[in-house]
Amino acid sequence: MKLIVFDLDDTLYSATSGVFARMDKKINAFVMRELGLAPDAADRLRRDYWRRYGTTLRGLMLHHGVDPERFLQEVHDVRPHELLGPDPELDAALAAIPARKVVHTNAIREHAERVLAALGVRHHFAAIYDIRFDAYRPKPNARALARILRQEGAKPHETLVVDDQPANLAAAARLGCRTVLVSAHKGHWRMRIPRVHLLPAWLERVHAQFGFAWA
Ligand SMILES: [Mg+2]
Repeated sequence: MKLIVFDLDDTLYSATSGVFARMDKKINAFVMRELGLAPDAADRLRRDYWRRYGTTLRGLMLHHGVDPERFLQEVHDVRPHELLGPDPELDAALAAIPARKVVHTNAIREHAERVLAALGVRHHFAAIYDIRFDAYRPKPNARALARILRQEGAKPHETLVVDDQPANLAAAARLGCRTVLVSAHKGHWRMRIPRVHLLPAWLERVHAQFGFAWA
């Protein structure tokens, strides 16, 4: 195992932190204002785009000609440091894993930098691949992930993808990567840990069971 590709939002911090809820509100506000929709119509539309394309932004770009940077700057203006604090347990968990670690997020780099700084874990990540990396094409499209592996010089079977969205893991698994879901809820994916902090213990267990080793 050479490379670990971590999702950011709701993976490296808890889905109950309120950070994503703030983004959710901002996305709804943007859609309502730009398209002149009532709250429930806006919410329906963005959920539909999210299901079809992976992000609301992709639908807004394809169907409404929205400027991606205007959208991205606005919806990521959520001040994560107000909701997230240093996480020494996560810091120790990441330090315990001797593989190259990168972030791959449907958000923008600035947001990722703010979140990682708030958690106090920025120094663990060798690179941040954001939504701009593949011309705003979001996960679960695996094109960006394939490019990341090429750039990192890692083969799929040497790569572990850690994400809170089963659809993203399904795309990574089709590429041949190893995958683990971070979710408090049971039954969404064959490999699951309730919190990312448990990754070192999970890796040891998997290693003992299936015998894959670190490069
Ligand atoms: Mg996520």
